[in-house]
Amino acid sequence: MAELQEARIVGTPALDGRYITEMDMWPLECQEFNRLYQFYDNLREGRFTTTKCKKCGHIAFPPGVICPKCWSEELEWVDLPRRAKVVTFTETQAGAPIGFPPPLILAWLDFGKDSPLKHLLVRIVNCAEGELKEGDEVKFVVFDVPSHPIEVKRETEVRDRVYYAFERVK
Ligand SMILES: [Zn+2]
Repeated sequence: MAELQEARIVGTPALDGRYITEMDMWPLECQEFNRLYQFYDNLREGRFTTTKCKKCGHIAFPPGVICPKCWSEELEWVDLPRRAKVVTFTETQAGAPIGFPPPLILAWLDFGKDSPLKHLLVRIVNCAEGELKEGDEVKFVVFDVPSHPIEVKRETEVRDRVYYAFERVK
């Protein structure tokens, strides 16, 4: 019984408004699991970044470990614009996946002609139902993601996690 309780504490915060590990939709961000861990380290510093090819100059999003244009593996991290305009969006008011409280808003953003990243489909947070309008300016925001235990070199560890979205500029 004690073992079970322990497992519940360490394991899955299922029904207290969070999600269960098995339904975790967020990436494992640490170096041991993800070659793009630098992207998440940059998020922790409030930076919205991607990879740029040192050979041909191509900037790809999402970031990668190889250039999709010339196959070079010599990439560097560059910052992306943190403001954009909403082209169009959807609001899911019921039936959003666990961990995504309604309204779940997904917007198609326009970063402007001078940006290497022209468009992005992304979640809009901190926004009430009916509040967002086409043409609204939105800004990049980083938020905490609930952690769950992971096994790293046979040790159980809990690592802080973050992810990004955009929110309305008020
Ligand atoms: Zn390239």
